[in-house]
Amino acid sequence: MVKQSENIEPDAAEQHLDAIVIGAGFGGLYALYHLRKSGLSVKAFDGAGGVGGTWWWNRYPGASVDIPSAPFYAFTFSEELAREWDWTERQPGQPEVLAYLEYVADKFDLRRDIQLKTWISDARFDEKTGRWTLQTDSGQRVSAQFLICAAGTLSATNLPDIPGIADFGGECYHTGRWPHEPVDFAGKRVGVIGTGSSAVQAIPSIARSAAHLTVFQRTPQYCIPARNGPIDRNYLKQVQAEWKKHSDFMHTSLTGMPYPSVERSALDDTPEQRQEVYEALWVDGGFRVLFGGYNDLMTNKAANATLGEFVRGKIREQVRDPATANKLMPDYMLGTKRLILDEGYFETYNRDNVSLVDLRDDPIERIIGNAVVTASGEHTLDMLVLATGYDAITGTLLRLNPRGRDGVDLATTWRESFTTYLGMMIPGFPNFFLIHGPESPSVLHNMPLAGELQSDWIGDCIEHLRMNKFNTIEPAPGMEIEWRQSTDDAARETLFREGDSWYTGANIEGKHRQFVVHMGGKEYFEILDDVAHKDYRGFVLAQT
Ligand code: NAP
Repeated sequence: MVKQSENIEPDAAEQHLDAIVIGAGFGGLYALYHLRKSGLSVKAFDGAGGVGGTWWWNRYPGASVDIPSAPFYAFTFSEELAREWDWTERQPGQPEVLAYLEYVADKFDLRRDIQLKTWISDARFDEKTGRWTLQTDSGQRVSAQFLICAAGTLSATNLPDIPGIADFGGECYHTGRWPHEPVDFAGKRVGVIGTGSSAVQAIPSIARSAAHLTVFQRTPQYCIPARNGPIDRNYLKQVQAEWKKHSDFMHTSLTGMPYPSVERSALDDTPEQRQEVYEALWVDGGFRVLFGGYNDLMTNKAANATLGEFVRGKIREQVRDPATANKLMPDYMLGTKRLILDEGYFETYNRDNVSLVDLRDDPIERIIGNAVVTASGEHTLDMLVLATGYDAITGTLLRLNPRGRDGVDLATTWRESFTTYLGMMIPGFPNFFLIHGPESPSVLHNMPLAGELQSDWIGDCIEHLRMNKFNTIEPAPGMEIEWRQSTDDAARETLFREGDSWYTGANIEGKHRQFVVHMGGKEYFEILDDVAHKDYRGFVLAQT
């Protein structure tokens, strides 16, 4: 036996594939489906114990989608799927979205090509063969001509660097790595660090069962009522019956979202008229408050301030104690951090078992045993929930840190800035494609739809290479500069890039301050099509 293994060629243990997909969430599942359907041998790897990506990990109480399920937060590639999957909620909770993705994996027989509980620990491009070789955390080696990274924009968790946190004496969970066993808050003193979307969803639910909840807030947030509820069955049936119409709307609208374009500036109206518009939108809830009333809330600071003031007024109405309300008052430009939808978040602070620590006045100094020590005193806790977010968009890619041409790794390539061409490929990394990469529309587009469109483009590109007998594709020198310009131009008129947010990398110490979302929306996908039609303009296609 030993002798035999000595004779094995170094790469004999490798599985050789046409394409490897990293990630089995929305993006990875469709990439696998699409590329396999195109006749390629494909395998997807995911570190999670099940399919679903972010919806497999984010099991914290209250986790749910923030755009309407039907028809928007779903795949568009299969009319049959759209007609047979019955959503029960307008903005479904995590279990329902996960069930949908599991259904998709089963319906399209994807599981046979997905290897779960497997982290990719090494990925490198071999210039001699023009292939990628990957190693998993268990030492398995696989190689493929094409590597598609669909590992998620919000999956590299950000853990706060608080002295003593590793030795916290109680239970400690990050919202994005929530345990699969039920977490019991009953009778416990729970602390939540952070007040982003995850915290705002979890806090009302935790407060209902914990003995006491202490929220540690660094930045007060604007929140808009989600107004979730059971989906109207008639509406659902109508969407299913008229699927083509809805799908076409998504594919042709600016961001694939249910927000009709409005032509009016907030500054065209009197304060009284604006109040009326905002009140009506507030009753409906959801992101329409930001996108459904006026067209300049994210392009004009004065217009933006009118909605900011309106929401601050709503916070004052919801929170009984004026001192607590003051601490909760956001003072940045609304929308420059991702706007949050809530279900009873502010009212939670009216409960006797909830207290708020304003870290700007009273910062955390360290953790000792079970106590979070702030400047003013100690908070003894049984459980700490870290709702501290993610190293967004680029973090997962950098943790993978693939090696491209000349053995240069991604961390080196991105030392000065995040560079891509079209948000689809990175200079020096042939045959390595990104789903929701930096400088693509990613988190400011309908993500399931954008992932589908990017996978379709990748599939077409691979077909083009094969038909024309090319082995590799990569950005031509300098195209990253052109694309940075396009990304900057698309965002220039907007306020999104002005905030201290994960959109700009400001939430991670030492990260480049760079707005990495391409705001082109539909136009971005037109550019992708145009590049493809022009024989992949800006790319180098080669035979070796
Ligand atoms: P997040 O928006 O980045 O919020 C992280 C929170 O933790 C912020 O309040 C941040 O404060 C705070 N924080 C970070 N480090 C800290 C530290 N060292 N000390 C104290 N506070 C600290 O993360 P998230 O809430 O997980 O949400 C991330 C994104 O995921 C969302 O914006 C959204 O796009 C998506 N998401 C969506 C949903 C949904 O669909 N409804 C739900 C959850 C998440 P600062 O603001 O001061 O940095």
